[in-house]
Amino acid sequence: MESRRGMMNPWAEEESSSDLVAMRRIQRLSSHISPDVTAPPLPLVQAERCSSRSSKKLEVNGEALSLYMRGKHMDIQEKVFDFFNSRPDLQTPIEISKDDHRELCMNQLLGLVRDAGIRPFRYVADDPEKYFAIMEAVGSVDMSFGIKMGVQYSLWGGSVLNLGTKKHRDKYFDGIDNLDYTGCFAMTELHHGSNVQGLQTTATFDPLKDEFVIDTPNDGAIKWWIGNAAVHGKFATVFARLILPTHDSKGVSDMGVHAFIVPIRDMKTHQTLPGVEIQDCGHKVGLNGVDNGALRFRSVRIPRDNLLNRFGDVSRDGKYTSSLPTINKRFGATLGELVGGRVGLAYASVGVLKISATIAIRYSLLRQQFGPPKQPEVSILDYQSQQHKLMPMLASTYAYHFATVYLVEKYSEMKKTHDEQLVADVHALSAGLKSYVTSYTAKSLSVCREACGGHGYAAVNRFGSLRNDHDIFQTFEGDNTVLLQQVAADLLKRYKEKFQGGTLTATWSYLRESMNTYLSQPNPVTARWEGEDHLRDPKFQLDAFRYRTSRLLQNVAARLQKHSKTLGGFGAWNRCLNHLLTLAESHIESVILAKFIEAVKNCPDPSARAALKLACDLYALDRIWKDIGTYRNVDYVAPNKAKAIHKLTEYLSFQVRNVAKELVDAFELPDHVTRAPIAMQSDAYSQYTQVVGF
Ligand SMILES: Cc1cc2nc3c(=O)[nH]c(=O)nc-3n(C[C@H](O)[C@H](O)[C@H](O)COP(=O)(O)OP(=O)(O)OC[C@H]3O[C@@H](n4cnc5c(N)ncnc54)[C@H](O)[C@@H]3O)c2cc1C
Repeated sequence: MESRRGMMNPWAEEESSSDLVAMRRIQRLSSHISPDVTAPPLPLVQAERCSSRSSKKLEVNGEALSLYMRGKHMDIQEKVFDFFNSRPDLQTPIEISKDDHRELCMNQLLGLVRDAGIRPFRYVADDPEKYFAIMEAVGSVDMSFGIKMGVQYSLWGGSVLNLGTKKHRDKYFDGIDNLDYTGCFAMTELHHGSNVQGLQTTATFDPLKDEFVIDTPNDGAIKWWIGNAAVHGKFATVFARLILPTHDSKGVSDMGVHAFIVPIRDMKTHQTLPGVEIQDCGHKVGLNGVDNGALRFRSVRIPRDNLLNRFGDVSRDGKYTSSLPTINKRFGATLGELVGGRVGLAYASVGVLKISATIAIRYSLLRQQFGPPKQPEVSILDYQSQQHKLMPMLASTYAYHFATVYLVEKYSEMKKTHDEQLVADVHALSAGLKSYVTSYTAKSLSVCREACGGHGYAAVNRFGSLRNDHDIFQTFEGDNTVLLQQVAADLLKRYKEKFQGGTLTATWSYLRESMNTYLSQPNPVTARWEGEDHLRDPKFQLDAFRYRTSRLLQNVAARLQKHSKTLGGFGAWNRCLNHLLTLAESHIESVILAKFIEAVKNCPDPSARAALKLACDLYALDRIWKDIGTYRNVDYVAPNKAKAIHKLTEYLSFQVRNVAKELVDAFELPDHVTRAPIAMQSDAYSQYTQVVGF
């Protein structure tokens, strides 16, 4: 290893012969694919001592921490990583055209299913936790690949499983599973994205032929952005208004949006089928390995059986039946079944945050700039400003990890039990976590790029592709601003129920238990407590988060009531919109903190637990400090306490910095994920200089 590294060091090289040049090219390529991370880290620069508190470094049992973090699906993730490490032909190069990238992604998916023998669709149905673990691993190989897999199995496959009945499962399961039946999820139209109830595509029942006729009535109703449509899809689940003939003067009845399986390409020739028109949505900001397309339908006929009829059916004689009484209820149930995609995005977004935080933190430990006079330069992570950028982010990554693991567990439970309260809980929680986490990750990617200076801008160091690929996570599977409103609406509903003596779902139970406590006047004595033990007490932290949510909730409920008298419901909601978004975020932060505190408590290894406690305290106090104006305004926190919170946050940032390496190592991201040369623990520069051609 040593000699190989020596030879690759550009400063050590003699004049290059043609053999050497050829050898270097091969090594450059192979180091790019599988870099050398085995060499010892550079010695860390002694960090400056922080105030009077101890700066003693915590010794962390990395193996125990890693085991706790990676959880029960480590094996399947390892299998994915090993497979792709062994197949350089399936790794995505830095420079690749849109068309080649699309083909590569399809081949990656085929490789996963047919060569590695990993069948994600089986887990969509029976073990969603495992499915999401595969998705996270696959997304770290190439995010386009992760999304391509999500389109095939969560969206197209998931719609057949969740909105269809046994006959659909029997007919389509194997083909979807083995990729013979590639498919799309065609909901969005040119004129309607978030407002799904406004969709205009129609599916009109023809009783004579026992068929539905699918039509795009105008250009605004062209299905747009549909993943898998431009090149690979053979089927689409098309969301359309179900139109039934009636015997009254109107002649037809609009039964609302339903889902239909529509074949779009010939199974043998792959030619577009008659009546279907497909266009390519073209080159995108990111995710160019996914072939998004636009679909127009001109009187496309499909058998009656192709209606995904779990929540509503049409009989041979054109009669409509449903166990649900209204269009709104059916619509809610239909969308409710599709939350899996949202759960997957929240989970995958944490995966992206882990990657970017790892790259930026490893680089910051290694990179040295300036220093005290006549002394060695210091690691840039020893600058308070760099700690301020990256350490709360690292703590948040841990916080979101535990919160999304919890979400995935709840989702799996919901799939098994179909418990009504759990369904409501998972719906709001997935909306909240998806929007909160993806927005945070999107912002953090820019912070990480900047934290790595100019080298962060080199494509090989990954921030560009991560940022571009991840950016749309904020929009698809529900725009974040729209989803947060669903959380706020749900909170208001629960709030009303609380005062009417109703039950509350698990995630909301704190409102029932403590609304009265939170809404009473802040205690002037505790408002002054500033001891470290008190500030690091989970009870203080959680109380502070919940107090803020409860106040926001009570205030916005009163404001809505006031404004609705003059502006009506819609106008009042819009008048209070920013307030409602803050409320939703505050609630989600409370849930995240509660899950983090629980995870710290449950960690079996004392040293790993101590490291997690540091990160958890930093997460909580940093959030409180960021919102200190709110707490000061109502004297929940007195001036001396605010100052103590600030000082302790800085100290905790410093302490987390001392175990930052152990904390990022515990993510156990494989080599190909952190292959960004700047993230290397050793000979980073030689690897980097090779990549650019020295
Ligand atoms: C790469 C990519 C892949 C996609 N894949 C698929 C797919 O496979 N299948 C599919 O069906 N769709 C797909 N989509 C579509 C995606 O789901 C929609 O883009 C998304 O739902 C948002 O809808 P929209 O684009 O119409 O945005 P809009 O709803 O028009 O939103 C635009 C802006 O208006 C704001 N806004 C809208 N309504 C409100 C409101 N009530 N209150 C406050 N602000 C509001 C939003 O916050 C947003 O900032 C994909 C999109 C992309 C870009």
